[in-house]
This record gives sequence, C-alpha cells and structure tokens, in this order.
Amino acid sequence: MSNEFWVEASSKIPLELKEILDYTMRHNIWRKKETINLIASENTMSPLALSAYVSDMMHRYAEGKPFKRYYQGTRYVDEVEVRVSRIMGELLGGALVDPRPISGTTANASVFRVLGKCGSRAVIAPVQAGAHVSHTKFGTLGALCIEHIEMPYDAENLNVDADKAVKLIEEIKPSFAVLGGSVYLFPHPVKEIADAIHSVGGKLVYDAAHVLGLIVGKRWRNPLDHGADVMTASTHKTFPGPQGGIVATRDEKLYKSIGKAIFPYFVSNHHLHRLPALAVTAIEMKYFGEAYADQVVRNAKALAEALAAEGFKVLGEHLGYTRSHQVVLDVRPQGGGAKAAQLLEEANIIVNKNLLPYDPPDAIKDPSGLRLGVQEMTRYGMKEDNMKDIARFMKRVLVDKEDPKRVAREVTEYRKEYTEVKYCFDINTIRDGKLYLLM
Ligand SMILES: *Cc1c(COP(=O)(O)O)cnc(C)c1O
Repeated sequence: MSNEFWVEASSKIPLELKEILDYTMRHNIWRKKETINLIASENTMSPLALSAYVSDMMHRYAEGKPFKRYYQGTRYVDEVEVRVSRIMGELLGGALVDPRPISGTTANASVFRVLGKCGSRAVIAPVQAGAHVSHTKFGTLGALCIEHIEMPYDAENLNVDADKAVKLIEEIKPSFAVLGGSVYLFPHPVKEIADAIHSVGGKLVYDAAHVLGLIVGKRWRNPLDHGADVMTASTHKTFPGPQGGIVATRDEKLYKSIGKAIFPYFVSNHHLHRLPALAVTAIEMKYFGEAYADQVVRNAKALAEALAAEGFKVLGEHLGYTRSHQVVLDVRPQGGGAKAAQLLEEANIIVNKNLLPYDPPDAIKDPSGLRLGVQEMTRYGMKEDNMKDIARFMKRVLVDKEDPKRVAREVTEYRKEYTEVKYCFDINTIRDGKLYLLM
C-alpha cells in the first residue's frame, strides 16, 4: 500500500478515529523512544513476548482450570496455561502458581477472600513502610469488610518494627498478615512476622507486586523460603511481562481454595492473551533474569548516590539508600512532589509524586516526595554511568531551574541510544531457528 493511498483513505476516515490512532501512535513514540521512564511500577515486554501477546487468544474464553474448562476450543490455551504455571513455579524455587488473576489487586482479593471473612482482622505493613491501597480498608480489604490494623513503624529503618509487630500479632491474633509494598526500599522482616502469625494460627501473605522480577533474578529474598504461606504479585513491574497477576504457594490445600476464589469470585475471562506473553517472559527471565536483576539493583544504588551528589535529599542514606529497584527523594527544597513531577514530565523524565513516611495522609495531592524506579531503563541497556546522567538532567530541571523544554530535547536525543530491550531473546534469530543471547 502506497503512502498516497493512506493519505487519501485517512482524509476520509472520521476525525475521531484519526485522532485516536494519532494519539496512540504519539504515545508509543513518546513513551517508548523519547522519555526516560522512572515510574517504579512499569516495564516493557521483550519484542518476542510482545509478538506472543498479540494473538487470537485475546478473543477467547477459558473459564475454569486447564483441561477442565466450561468451554470448548481451549486445547492450546490449556497447554500454554499449564506451562506458564510450571515455569513460574520453577522460577520461584518450586511453587504452585495460578496465573489467572488479571492484576495484582485481583490476586490479593482472591487470597484475602480465602484467608479472612467479613469481620476478620488482618495486620498489614504500615502505610509509611509502603503498604498498597489494596491492603487497606480503603481498597480490597475494605471491599471484603475485613478490618486492617497497621503494624508499628520503625522510622529509623524505614520498615516494619518487627519486635512491636510480633507483640501486636500475639495480642490481637489476626487471621492473616500482609507484607510487601509499593514504596519499597528495604525488605520487610518476613521470618519474624511469619513465626508470629503462625503461632496464633494465622497465615502470612507476601505481596511481591514490585519485587517479583528481583526475586526471580535472585536479588531479593524469596518470601516462600522464609515462611510466607502465599505470595501474590503483578507480572509487569520489575517482572517485565504483560499486565496481570499471579498467586504462588507451596501449600496445596491453600492453592486449591484460592483457585476456587479466583474463578468464579474475581475473574470469569482471565484475558488469555496474557498467558503466552507471560510464558515467554518467564523463559527469558530464566536465562537473563539474574543479570537483569543484578543490574537493576546496581543502577538503583548508583542513581541514589548520583542524586545525593547533585544535592538532592535521598531517603535511607544511613542504610545505603536502597536494596530494590526504587529510589525515594524528598523534594520539599525543590518545591514539593507535585511541582517537581510536573517539571520533570515537561523535561521528558516521567516519575510519580509520592507520600513520604513523615507526610500526613492528606498531603496526597502535593506530597513531599518522588518515587523513582530504574527497572525499565535498565531493560533498555542503561548502566551505572547512565544513572549519573539522569541525576544531572534532574538537577538541571529541579535545582538549576533550566527551561524543562530545553532539557526535554536533550533527553530525547539521549534516549535514542537506548531504544532496544535487552535481557531477552533476539526475535529475528528466533525466527531463523537459532537463539541469540542479547546482553
Ligand atoms: C501495584 C501493586 C499492587 C496492584 O497491582 P495491580 O496489578 O496494579 O492491580 C498490589 N500490591 C502492591 C504492593 C503494588 O505495588
């Protein structure tokens, strides 16, 4: 089809249709090729995973479990789903994995529904230590009318206060405890909380939404090895797969009950086209996951150190800043989180404003902080030196008050060297029947 034909056809298509296609295309170019994305909960799939994602499976239904469906026509979906569970289970050091939750929140809902009932009590990590809204009465726990009680916070270590939390658990005997977080620099005390909750007959849920890729890459402790009864996760944050969720456990009875809650309580169609893309990503993580996770953790530390050197206030200095993919900044001296995030967007650096441990909850619209994550730029091949460059760009915008539009042009130019996803199979050589390792 020649270009002229497209111009001719596009001049006849409805304006709204043209606009939609236009915005979508502009989004793709802007977010994939022109910006430095530091949103800590996002990532990009490999080209091979992406091509596996766009399949006819997106049109189909497969209610129930593989080979025991309520629909016909699912023979290939069943084969893929069995393999997703098996490979993800292997990556987690042996676990039964249900890949049907369509998001981390849906995974949490299914688990919470099984471990508690209306009126039960759950202890959660304090919001300052990173608890997600789905762990609270304002989110999924609230929808299930399960009461949440925050474990005490250790401000010095930016973490759950393990000793006080153990006492609280022994005192109130909750049905379950939830660890894992969204602002998550340092690992929560899994072993201590697991022992305490087990001593009162409860279960420990570990929400690995943010750190699944680091766990699989062996740069973050696997909570299932340290006493967590069940793990939930998103499959698209540090784990660079399609948007979705999983539940993993080594307890067969729990696995079965949670499966019965996922369907029919929380999903009917589980968005089947996720499954081959998730399987491809899992296989790539088997080969490249450790190298990727290692570089992510190094980059996060490098970015934190570089930002501190540029004069920013970086949280957790006395603890080495971070052990995850995240870096957290206090940008009150630069005008607060809302203004800083907006200015950075104008400079093509995408971050989110965030509450800091010492912010009041009602500061949500203009909190003191920024949350940064290096996982996606690491996927695009950035290393420690690039983190220094990013810190410098941020300083020019937020400290030197340079015109963000000017910095944006430089960021776009800079990003041109980093548009190819690494730590994955080369899609072209796969087509030749050969595997190439892209590092
Ligand atoms: C992002 C996140 C979730 C929710 O995941 P979705 O896939 O967006 O539903 C749950 N828990 C934590 C800790 C998160 O950070």
